[in-house]
Amino acid sequence: MILVLIGPPGAGKGTQAKRLEDLRGLVQLSTGDMLRAAVAAGTELGRQAGDLMEHGQLVPDDLVIGLIAERLDANKDAKGFILDGFPRTIGQAEALDRLLETRGAQVDRTVVIDVDDDALVVRITGRFTCATCGEGYHDLFKKPKEEGTCDKCGGTEFKRRPDDTEEVVRSRLKAYHAQTEPLVGYYGGQDKVRTVNGMADIEAVQKEIDLALDAA
Ligand code: ADP
Ligand code: ADP
Ligand code: ZN
Repeated sequence: MILVLIGPPGAGKGTQAKRLEDLRGLVQLSTGDMLRAAVAAGTELGRQAGDLMEHGQLVPDDLVIGLIAERLDANKDAKGFILDGFPRTIGQAEALDRLLETRGAQVDRTVVIDVDDDALVVRITGRFTCATCGEGYHDLFKKPKEEGTCDKCGGTEFKRRPDDTEEVVRSRLKAYHAQTEPLVGYYGGQDKVRTVNGMADIEAVQKEIDLALDAA
């Protein structure tokens, strides 16, 4: 199963992708996470991507397409993949179709997580993650059960993304509406799209995604 998650920054793609990984044994591929790792490692790719990410602009298609190709090949035995934050342009979607075709696969389902722009700013500015295991949290909507301790691994260090400010989120939203939203039409034309109401709470969204995936 190849599942593409589409949604604006803060829609809940990462949150839902992690749950689907645990539940369905699929491998999450997040180009945002891969790019942040490249920036942290100071690689050539990280140098090319870092400045654009800081300003909330998309990095060039060929950089992320290369990352995805590598990961598909590195996980040949996987039952399937959840693509989180990729593709983000029509060019990336077309490249993905070609990559999958040569590997005897295809995009099976696309889930669009729909959330109002104003709610997204609140989601993004309250987001933080465990520095040890990467579990995602929110100041208002998903606090650790015990303050200051990660539910999942017991870690006590947390971090926030430098691009999770209101100003940068506004440009990320612009990029989403201009460059990524057209993908809904791209996959809609192939009758692969299911839209879920991302304004509901985390559990309700997960139930809706499960229904969308299990529907024939
Ligand atoms: P979000 O939480 O906004 O969905 P991501 O972690 O997916 O954020 O992406 C963070 C940043 O990394 C983006 O603003 C963009 O600069 C870059 N990026 C991630 N994925 C892609 C992609 N598929 N194409 C181009 N740029 C990307
Ligand atoms: P994305 O990967 O789409 O950028 P995340 O999964 O990181 O989004 O979610 C953004 C923030 O909003 C996180 O702090 C997360 O805990 C929180 N969040 C995710 N889904 C919901 C939801 N349905 N309701 C409220 N908060 C949510
Ligand atoms: Zn943790």
